[in-house]
Amino acid sequence: MSSSAVAALFQNDADEDAPQPRPRLLIVDDVADNRNVLARRFQRRNFDIAEADGGRSALDMIERGVFDLVLLDIMMPDITGVEVLRRIRQKYSQSQLPVIMVTANSRSEDIVEALEIGANDYVTKPVDFAVALARVNTQIDRKRASEALETLNAELQNANRSLEGRIVERTQSLSAANQKLQEEIEQRQRSEERSHFLAYHDALTGLANRILFREDLERALVDARIRRAPLAALFIDLDGFKGVNDTLGHSVGDALLKTLGGRLRDALTASARIARLGGDEFAVLQTTGEQPKAALALAGQIVELLSAPCHVDGHIIQISASVGVAVSERGLENPEYLLKSADLAMYRAKAEGRGAFKLFDPEMDATAQARRQLEIDLRSAIARGEFEVYYQPLIEVETRRVSSFEALARWTHPTRGPIEPSEFIPVAEDTGLILQLGEWVLRQACAAAMAWPPHITVAVNVSPVEFQRGDVVRAVRDAFAASGLPPERLEIEITETVLLEKTTKSVTTLARLRELGVRISMDDFGTGFSSLSYLRTYPFDKIKVDRSFVRDLSQDHRSRTIVSAITGLGVHFGMRTTAEGVETEEQLQWLSAEGCKEVQGRLFSMPVPAKEVLPLLAKIDAGASTSPFVREALP
Ligand code: C2E
Ligand code: MG
Ligand code: MG
Repeated sequence: MSSSAVAALFQNDADEDAPQPRPRLLIVDDVADNRNVLARRFQRRNFDIAEADGGRSALDMIERGVFDLVLLDIMMPDITGVEVLRRIRQKYSQSQLPVIMVTANSRSEDIVEALEIGANDYVTKPVDFAVALARVNTQIDRKRASEALETLNAELQNANRSLEGRIVERTQSLSAANQKLQEEIEQRQRSEERSHFLAYHDALTGLANRILFREDLERALVDARIRRAPLAALFIDLDGFKGVNDTLGHSVGDALLKTLGGRLRDALTASARIARLGGDEFAVLQTTGEQPKAALALAGQIVELLSAPCHVDGHIIQISASVGVAVSERGLENPEYLLKSADLAMYRAKAEGRGAFKLFDPEMDATAQARRQLEIDLRSAIARGEFEVYYQPLIEVETRRVSSFEALARWTHPTRGPIEPSEFIPVAEDTGLILQLGEWVLRQACAAAMAWPPHITVAVNVSPVEFQRGDVVRAVRDAFAASGLPPERLEIEITETVLLEKTTKSVTTLARLRELGVRISMDDFGTGFSSLSYLRTYPFDKIKVDRSFVRDLSQDHRSRTIVSAITGLGVHFGMRTTAEGVETEEQLQWLSAEGCKEVQGRLFSMPVPAKEVLPLLAKIDAGASTSPFVREALP
């Protein structure tokens, strides 16, 4: 409500002292005396007075001027007051222009008519001024109040109209804002759904991730307990995936994971829940079927599914998978434990040959615990002097004389007794203890070789982990400095994995070792990825054919083909070929015929302690001259 309208409405109450506009009063009477008396008295009361001497002039003045009230005599000669009133009311309402009739007391019919036509009030003649003033004031106050009300109404209407406009405007902008908000909410919802999906799924394969799988497993275990129906968790690990990554690159590796993940999803989603746990590890949850029969059947199906060749980026890749199965009975109701058990079973499957599956057996957990114990024991073994280096001779085929000794670490555990390198070397590699152990073997070997005839070299195995994480060149230099062994008498045996990592570090290390004068042998050739490109790009001094081929020479003609191919390559590239694990005279003769230059194995001697090297050397060299094979081979 506007403030001026309010002020007008409550003028009397609100502000009595505020200056009032003077009321304009029109006095209409044909008798001048009557007019004058009234005019004077009203003027004294601060009225603004106009006078008309008849009906006609009154109507004229009303036409031209603005009055607050007309005091109208009824009895006039030209036009009667009642007629004047009728005309006034044709134009103005009672509140727009109040009219008070002045009449003789006797003419009550005139008064009735005038009131019917629209007179506001009347006074009788002779006029009692106090009464007239009171009635005039009342009418003027009413008129002003009504005017104020009108203004107020108009202002209210205006306000309403503009309010309506603003409401429409505001409603429109609100609805636009609302729509925007709605869109934002939807977008946020979508992005929340997306981040929720990403949080619970693997971005590469779209399968559930480890978190979701664990939650599913937890729920399923509760359900299984209620239903008293065991469920199965299957842990899947691809065999040889690292090799694919290393040789063909990570993008091919990723594409392969995607393809295999898709295969699992397409084949198994209806019967089981599948997740990628990370790397090349997948897991499957099976909640139906009779266990463990159903899970073992599923494991077989998975192995088959994953072993089928894959076409990826123009390559045909065939790898296999190992699967471990754990069933939720016999107290295996904890998700962590169940998954760990399946993992252990998977390791066992892998260890026993790739592309296999295995059901968890509590004994496997004991194996895992034993390995942890082994780690602990290994940490203190070097300090406690539990290691020893054994030496195995390498024999030159042509002369049957010893050309070299390979240093091999031996660990005698205080309670378990001798532990195979195949058991402790991987643990030492995983824990990084191989750095310490490798360096220690190197020093021992170099020092031991100083006691041997100068034409005999010493071969030391260096793990890929040492190339990656250690400083092999420094360790070799230190060993030379400590022992005084000339560099040409040391051979370093590496496996293909050193080159697989393809880091510049390994390649530089190899180059610097050769600069020192050290010889480099490729150990266990034929078992890893046997990429022939290594032979072309890296000049080895020696290739050692893996024991597994030599072992199978007599029964397996494919092994024979492989060995002769490797020997042929060696001849071609000017690298010596050494055969490992030669146990029989027959193997030796065959290898000799194929052009193999050097052999190592039980036929001559298994590894011996350092103090037995010289006696062994004497014995072999003495035997050389009497060997019928050598006599035949020599001219
Ligand atoms: P490797 O370097 O290929 O060593 C040859 C392995 O074949 C030795 O096993 C040796 O005892 C065995 N061997 C040799 N001739 C015969 C045979 O006629 N018949 C049979 N059955 N076996 C034979 P070992 O000493 O158990 O070592 C196994 C592997 O452990 C080695 O394979 C090598 O890779 C690793 N290793 C041993 N000592 C060390 C070491 O000090 N450092 C590193 N990094 N690895 C080592
Ligand atoms: Mg070796
Ligand atoms: Mg070997």
